[in-house]
Amino acid sequence: MPQLEVYCTVRNCHYWADGEHCTAEKILVTTDAIGRLYPESVDAAEAQDIVRQHGPTEAEKCYDTCCKTFTPRDGAKPAGTPAKMAGKAQRLATRH
Ligand code: SF4
Repeated sequence: MPQLEVYCTVRNCHYWADGEHCTAEKILVTTDAIGRLYPESVDAAEAQDIVRQHGPTEAEKCYDTCCKTFTPRDGAKPAGTPAKMAGKAQRLATRH
C-alpha cells in the first residue's frame, strides 16, 4: 500500500494533529448518502461489506463525500456552528 499523508482541518476529530494532519492509520471516505446509512461504529474495516451491499458509489462533487472515520475528540467543542463555519469557509475560498 502506498503511504499517504492526509491533511484535514476538522480540529475536533480524535485523529487530528497540529499542522492539519490526520493521524489515523486508515480512514474510510464515502459518499454522504452512504455515510448517513451506517452508525458511527462502521469504518474502514467494513469498506468491502459496504461495497458488497451497495456497489461502488459515485459522487459528483467533493462536497458529496465525507470522512466516515471522524470521531469527536472527548470534550471537544466545534469552533463554531455549521452555519458560521460555512461562512468562514466561503470567505477563505474567495481569497484564493
Ligand atoms: S479521521 Fe477524518 S476527520 Fe478525523 S482527522 Fe482524519 S481525515 Fe480528518
